[in-house]
Formats: sequence, C-alpha cells, structure tokens
Amino acid sequence: MPVNRQILLASRPEGWVTEANFKLVESAMPRPGDGQFLVRNRWLSLDPYMRGRMDAKKSYAKHVELGEVMVGGAVGEVIESRHPAFKPGDFVNAAFGWQEYALSDGTGARKVDPSRAPLSYYLGVLGMPGVTAWIGLLDIAQPKAGETVVVSAASGAVGSVVGQLARIKGCRAVGIAGGRAKCDYTVGELGFDACVDYKAGPLGESLAAAAPNGVDVYFENVGGEVLDAVLVSMNPFSRITICGLVSQYNATEAYGVRNLRSILTNRIRVQGFIVSDRMELWPRALDELADWTAAGKIKYRETIAHGLANAPRAFIGMLRGDNLGKQLVALD
Ligand code: NDP
Repeated sequence: MPVNRQILLASRPEGWVTEANFKLVESAMPRPGDGQFLVRNRWLSLDPYMRGRMDAKKSYAKHVELGEVMVGGAVGEVIESRHPAFKPGDFVNAAFGWQEYALSDGTGARKVDPSRAPLSYYLGVLGMPGVTAWIGLLDIAQPKAGETVVVSAASGAVGSVVGQLARIKGCRAVGIAGGRAKCDYTVGELGFDACVDYKAGPLGESLAAAAPNGVDVYFENVGGEVLDAVLVSMNPFSRITICGLVSQYNATEAYGVRNLRSILTNRIRVQGFIVSDRMELWPRALDELADWTAAGKIKYRETIAHGLANAPRAFIGMLRGDNLGKQLVALD
C-alpha cells in the first residue's frame, strides 16, 4: 500500500513553538473521488502566518484543530484525477498542507507552468509572498519616486521583494535585517541603498544615518522594538503598511509600543492588510513580478530543507531568522 506521510498539529504552543508541537504520521495514500484529484507535493512553503494558525485565538483565518494536518501552501504534480479541469502531469499550487500527497476538489488551486519559472518560485516571488510585497507596497503605500522606503525582515521572502520593488519605482530602499550577512546580501546582491543590522546596536541612530531624509513609507514585517525605533524617523504625512509582526508571534506578552505619538504628530496613515483580501489584484501583481524576475530586476534566493520530517525544525528556524530569502521544504 502506498503511504502518505503527514505532519499534524499535536499540541498548541505556549510561547515559542517547539518540535514537540508537531507529530509525523503515516496513513494510506488517499484515492480521488468524483470531482477530485490527487497531488504529489513537490515543494512545501513555510510561512510565519502558520504560527498564528497553531493558536486557538480569534484571528482573520480559522485555526488548525489538534490532530489536523498543518495548513500550508504547496506545489505538487497531479498524479490521478477525476476532475475535468486537472489532469495527470499538471503542476498545481494550493493549500495542500504539510503532507506528501493531498486530495483536492480544485478549490483555490492554481495551475503553474514549470517552463516559465522553477516550480518553487510559485511559493515565493511568483506566489503569495511576492504578491504580498506588491500589494502592501504598490497598492497600499503607493511610494513616489525619490521617497525613502524602509522594510523590516528585509532579506526574507516578502521583504526582499519589497525593497526591490521600491528601487524599481525610483525610491531609496533601506532594509532592516538581523546580522551583517543579511544586510550585505540586501545591498550587494538585491541593490538596496542601505541596510541596518538591528542586532548590532541602537537601531534608531543607524536608521537615521541610513535614511537621512526621514522615512516616507515603512513596510512593517516584525513589530516590537523595531517598530518603535522606526516610528521616530517617520516623516510628516508618511505611510506605514502593517504586513506582519513576526517578533510577536511567539511572545507570551505583547510588546507595548512607546512611540505611538509619532502617528499623531506626523499624521501618519497606518494600514494593515491581508493578501487574500485583494484577489482581484493577484493577476496583475503576478504578471509584473514574473516580468521583473525574468528581466533580472528582481533577484531571489531560497533556503531549502529536505524531507517532510525536517519541516518543523525548518519552520522554527525561519521564525528565529535562520533563513535567507524564502524558506521551503523540498519533498524529494
Ligand atoms: P521571512 O522570510 O521574512 O522570515 C521571517 C523573518 O523574520 C526571519 O528571517 C527574521 O529575519 C525575522 N524576524 C524573526 N524574529 C524577529 C524579531 N524578533 N525581530 C526582527 N525580525 C525578526 O518571512 P516572510 O517574508 O514569509 O514574512 C514576513 C512577514 O510578512 C511576516 O510578518 C508575515 O507574517 C508577513 N506576511 C503577511 C502577509 C499578509 O497578508 N499580511 C502575507 C505573507 C506574509 P532577521 O534575521 O532579519 O531577524
């Protein structure tokens, strides 16, 4: 009997997620019923939002129940189909979960073309993280040429695209990242104008030097002390896009932001967003991201773990900052 290996949510984390919160199980490989197809997953995406789905708190999306397969985007190959629109050999991206095989009725499934880009790119720059960068920066913050755009988690899946989009739009792109190597990568390889290592010293002072004309757009990925430091450098009538708050996802006590007064005195527009709320923008965003990536205007890196069993460790490592670029699991 062919076997399906799956990673389930075994227990809810209290504070930092640990490998003990997950359980690897084997079950019989499912067979598609009428209107369904079976996918063999090739690539699994690991994303910070998954930490939120492990908690039973009220949020914008339903949490994972104990004993359920962990939620997650994946790209796989259709190997058996009783669905009219999907045939064996098609490559498909959907929320197939942390497992080697998945059944689907096609809901939320998007066919992807392996001749246009490597399959893994559809989970990164040509997928949800790339579109998140596009919508959060270009639709919500709308930077103008000459403005200064600051982005945190700058070397990661979303942040690395944000900074490069800012450069494409003629802005000064300033990253905030953890460590010299990540900063060197954003400036040397991705073409950011500057990058500040938030682990190296007083962030406020380094940021003031990296953004001498102040900050017009702040693309927030981490929250906490980083947000506090950036608030001090914001310009009058600037914008903050709240994309994520990864520094808070494992926190047992929320960080109390001290410099909220800057929002008032500088009349800052602050807007949070969830990428799935704006499905109408995805086709245009994906087309532009594909063109810019093909033209070499957007560069892209991945950190790859191998084998489903290593997904929990890689997930925790990504939340701690071990990744450079997009964190993936190759299910080879
Ligand atoms: P990344 O590839 O950026 O990986 C996470 C990074 O977060 C780590 O590499 C680490 O980088 C950084 N980080 C972790 N802890 C801290 C901390 N305490 N302080 C500062 N930085 C920290 O992940 P993604 O690009 O996938 O996601 C980035 C953000 O975007 C997340 O907040 C995520 O939730 C959000 N997001 C939001 C979406 C939406 O629809 N609103 C959709 C997709 C993502 P470093 O080493 O630099 O610290």
